[in-house]
Amino acid sequence: MKTALTIEEAVPLSRFTTIGTGGPALAFARPGSVPELEQALAWAAERGLRVATVGLGSNLLVADAGVDALVLKLEGELARARAEGELLVAGGGAPNAVCLHRARAAGLGGFEFACAIPGTTGGGVWMNAGAYGGDFSGILARALVVGVEGSGWLGPAELGLSYRHSELRHGQVVARVELRLAHRPEAEIKAAVADLQARRKATQPTNKRTFGSVFKNPEHELGAGAMLEACGLKGHRIGGALISPRHANFVENADGATTADCLGLMAEARRRARERFGVELVHEVELLGPIEAP
Ligand SMILES: Cc1cc2nc3c(=O)[nH]c(=O)nc-3n(C[C@H](O)[C@H](O)[C@H](O)COP(=O)(O)OP(=O)(O)OC[C@H]3O[C@@H](n4cnc5c(N)ncnc54)[C@H](O)[C@@H]3O)c2cc1C
Repeated sequence: MKTALTIEEAVPLSRFTTIGTGGPALAFARPGSVPELEQALAWAAERGLRVATVGLGSNLLVADAGVDALVLKLEGELARARAEGELLVAGGGAPNAVCLHRARAAGLGGFEFACAIPGTTGGGVWMNAGAYGGDFSGILARALVVGVEGSGWLGPAELGLSYRHSELRHGQVVARVELRLAHRPEAEIKAAVADLQARRKATQPTNKRTFGSVFKNPEHELGAGAMLEACGLKGHRIGGALISPRHANFVENADGATTADCLGLMAEARRRARERFGVELVHEVELLGPIEAP
C-alpha cells in the first residue's frame, strides 16, 4: 500500500504507559491527520488486525506479552488544540495540558478540572475522565469518531458517557473533539488551577509512575482508597509494584514492575475489600492485550 504512514513493528508499549509496563505492539503507527488515520485503519482491516489507540497511557495496563494489534498514537494535527470562539477544538491526541494552556490563553474556563489529569482528549472522552465535580461529558460538544465501519460526529449521549465510562470500542478512534467552554478571566483560571493542583499534591502520589485510580469508587460511604487503606494495603508490594503509601487506590512502579505485578496487587485488593466490606471493586484502569482484570 502506498502511504506516507510508517508502520513500525514490535514497538514496546512500556514507553507509552505512565506506569512503564507492557509488552510490544505487533504493529504501531502515528497518524498525523484524518486521512493518515483512515489509511492506518484500512491497513489493519486488510490484514484482519484489530486496532487500539493509546493516548498518554495514563490509565492503561498493557499485557506483558504484548498486543496482537495495530496500536495507534495520534500525532501532528491530531495532537493540536486551538480556541475558536467559545469552543476549544482539539485533536484526539492533544494532551489535556495543551488544551488547558490554549483555553486559558483565550480566556476560556471550564476545563480547569482536567489540570491534574495527565491524559489526552481522546482518552478523556473514552474514560469520561473527570475530577473535582467536572468531567468530559459536561463540556463535550461533539467528538469525531473514525472507525473502519464509518466515521461521524457524536455527542455525549451518543457516546454513552457516564461515570468513567463510554460506549466506545477499540477500533473506534476519537480523532477530534470540540469542547464548549465559557469566558473566564485568565487570572481566575490560573488561581483555580493552582488551587486544584495543590489539593492533588497533598493527597496523591503525583511524582511517581502510576496509572491513576485503580478502582472506581463503589457505592459505599468509603471511597476505594479509604477502603483499601482500612484493609492495611498501603505499602503492600508484589514484585516491583507497590500500593502507594500515599493513597491506597494507586499502584506505583517502585522498581521494574510488570503488568502481572500490578494485576497481582489488584487481585489482592479486591479480595480484601470483598472480605472486609462485602464490596466487589470494579477496576477503572483500562486493560489492553490478553489480560483480564482479577
Ligand atoms: C497521576 C494520575 C492522576 C490521574 N487523575 C485522574 C483524575 O483525576 N480523573 C480521571 O478521570 N482520571 C485520572 N487519571 C487517569 C487518566 O489520566 C485518565 O483516564 C485519562 O483521561 C486517560 O487519558 P489517556 O490519553 O492517557 O488515555 P490512555 O490511558 O492512553 O487510554 C485509556 C483508554 O482510552 C482509549 N483511548 C485513548 N485515546 C483514544 C483515542 N484518541 N480514541 C479512542 N480511544 C482512545 C485507550 O484505548 C484506552 O482504552 C489519572 C492518571 C494518573 C497517572
